This record gives sequence, structure tokens and C-alpha cells, in this order.
Amino acid sequence: MNVFPNVSPYPMIPFEEAWRLVERQARPLSPERLPLERLAGLVLAEEIVATEDWPPFAAATMDGYALRAAEGLAPRRILGEREAGRAEAVRLAEGVCLRIMTGAPLPEGADAVLPVEEAAERDGQMIPQRAVRPGENVRPVGADVRAGSGVLQQGTPLGPAEIGLLATLNRAEALVYPRPRVAILTTGDEIVPPGQALRPGQIPNSNAPALAAAVALHGGSVALVEHLPDEAAALRQGLERAIGAADIVLTSGGVSMGTRDLIKPILEALGTVHFGRVAIKPGKPLTFATVGRTYILGLPGNPVSSLVMFEMVVRPLMRLLGGHRAIHRPRVQARLKHAVRHEPDRLEFQRARLTPQEGTWWAETTGSQISSRLLSLAGANALLCIPRGVGDLEAGAMVEAIRLDLPEVEVPR
Ligand code: AMP
Ligand code: MG
Repeated sequence: MNVFPNVSPYPMIPFEEAWRLVERQARPLSPERLPLERLAGLVLAEEIVATEDWPPFAAATMDGYALRAAEGLAPRRILGEREAGRAEAVRLAEGVCLRIMTGAPLPEGADAVLPVEEAAERDGQMIPQRAVRPGENVRPVGADVRAGSGVLQQGTPLGPAEIGLLATLNRAEALVYPRPRVAILTTGDEIVPPGQALRPGQIPNSNAPALAAAVALHGGSVALVEHLPDEAAALRQGLERAIGAADIVLTSGGVSMGTRDLIKPILEALGTVHFGRVAIKPGKPLTFATVGRTYILGLPGNPVSSLVMFEMVVRPLMRLLGGHRAIHRPRVQARLKHAVRHEPDRLEFQRARLTPQEGTWWAETTGSQISSRLLSLAGANALLCIPRGVGDLEAGAMVEAIRLDLPEVEVPR
């Protein structure tokens, strides 16, 4: 029969050290060439240099008449009409013009476009109502991008403008860091899929859907979601399958000090465990291992602990694998609306709601902070960081707050 081990073989390390150990292992994934429609949110793994001038031809920027500006107010004979997409060779001789539509190439000999609103037509002639300057209403060759110029640097996150620019440069794909594939393994004999009648002692699996949502929302692809019993052979097989299928494996539960907490010894057998205890609340039993090039994070089973650890460790790891330079969420200083109790032995992440008032952020707790209470995370827009070595805090004290409602930012390092 198993007895409780009363000491953990893992030293308790500060959170900063735990993150450094994760960061030290993290390598961007091997770049892949993907089509434009799959690039949104990914990071460019190559430098994009324009091979040609853009636009490649001088084009009208207004509907009107292509003409020679130097001929001033003289009426011109209308040679014909040119729509966008047409480029028949036409040469404008003296005294003539060409009706031209926005986007159509300027004919040879023309150097300006007189807008249709500023001209009249009579008997096949165009009568200008004003003179145009050379170059007016013409978008010259290379106005947007010059051949040979660097357009997008490696490491650029691809949004709508960048993807549009790639298409403008006539590319249909680009080399990018792919989305990290994340496998989710929940554990626990008491855990059952949500939506069914619960027997005494059973609880619905909230970590599987919550973590899958977190992975999908933060740029990962969910490689698999599986639930495993608290049984060594099944856990080991499940872990091996997940390691084969994913860049990151998340386990939930089974990492604390109970007799059925089997994840750590299995990870020891499969690969290298870099740490198994961190001086934080929630998340103390957080475990990090690598097996080959797969990263495994053993998250505590409590729903809040697993999501807070996702936020603090998994998400930044996913961003490092995805080639991002902006890794962490921004932090702000906030003033406590009320006193906060805190044990000085570890760093605590408290779920809070920040509101702006009189030029400062005010922080208000989202209620009881026990690690099972997801209600305190739903509706939170910040995690207050109450450092180690600090005791209870008074109302009005300033604390650092991680903004959960803002995207990651790059910081000088
Ligand atoms: P463990 O880390 O396995 O000791 O689990 C800690 C607490 O979290 C226990 O009360 C579990 O019942 C609960 N728990 C573990 N896994 C899940 C899950 N997938 N969904 C909801 N609660 C869980
Ligand atoms: Mg468990």
C-alpha cells in the first residue's frame, strides 16, 4: 500500500527562476511555408524583399482624362477609353487625350489625369475647365515599394496589413513559425465529462474545455484532448501518445503530494524534469519537463491554478515557440481598493478587476481566491502580483497588476 511521501524531492524555486528554466529550453518551431489564408497571427520566419517596383506601372488615381499637362487649357480630341486592367499600347500625340478609369495604366506620352468632374465633352472633344500639373492624379511606378527594399523583417507578426502586403508583392505564401500543437491530458478518477448525471464524489471535467479554449484563443492548435485515470500504465501510455503528437503537452492534476499523484515519476522516467515545485500561489506543484523536443507542463488540477499557470507559463512558452518577440502581457501599477491578506512565503497571483478612476487604476478582488473557484477568474481583467517577502497589504497600497485584457508587448531585455 502507498503511504504519503512527506517531503518532496523537488526544491521550491522562485517563479522567476522557473520561468528562466522554461525560457532556456524554448526554441522557435521549425519554420513552414504556409498559404496567405493561414498566416493570420503567425510570425514571419524570413525577410521579405521587394523584387520589383510597386506599383509596376503608372496608373490613374481618378476617373478622368489622361493628357499632357503642358498643353494647358487647350481642348483635346478624345482618342478612346481605357478601363482598369487594359493596357493596349497607345501613344498620346499632341492635342489628344484618353478617357481613363481609376487604376488603369497611363498611356505613353500622358503625364497627368484631369478628373472627369473638371472637364466637359463636346463633339468628341474634351474641354478642360482647369489646367493640371504634371503628375497630378497619377500614381507613379514604385510609389508604394521600391525594388530591392526590405519590406517585412523576420520576426514580424502577420496581421491584415502585412498579409495584404505579401499579396501585393504577388506572393501566395510565406515562411512562418507554425502554431504550436498542444495536447491536453486531464487526469483524475473523480473527473467525468460535463453534461452527465454525477455520482457521489464525481465532478465535471472543466479543465479540458477551459485549457482547449485557452490554447485555441492564444494561437495554438489543439492536437488532442484526452482524459486519463489515476493509473500509472494508462498515464504513461497517454503521455507517450501526446508527446508524439504535440509540441507542448499539458497535463492537469496528479502533480501534488497525494498517493495517486503519478505524473512526476512518469516524466522522470520519460525525460528530464526541470522543476517540480514553485513558490507561487496558485500553482505550487507546477512541473516542467522535456522529452526530446516536446515541452511538458504538469499543471495542478484545481481549475483556477491550471488556468493561471496557463496564463503565466504556457502562453508565454507558446509565444516563444511561435517566434514572437512580444512574450508577456503588459503590467501596470494599481491601487488596492481594500486590504489584501498575503502570506510572505510565496508570490501570489490574485484575480482582480481593474477600473480607471481619477487618473489611476484601482484594483478590486473578484472574491474568494481559493483555487477551485473559477468564478473569481471569470470577469477578472488582471492578476495582481503580490511578491514574496511582503505581508498583508493595506487599502490604498500600490501593487503590480498583469493586464489580462491586453495583448503581449515587447519589452527591452
Ligand atoms: P489534483 O491536482 O489532481 O490533486 O486535483 C486538485 C483538485 O482539482 C481536485 O479537487 C480535483 O478534483 C480538481 N480537478 C482535477 N482535475 C480537474 C479537472 N479536469 N476539472 C475540474 N477539476 C479538476
Ligand atoms: Mg487528481
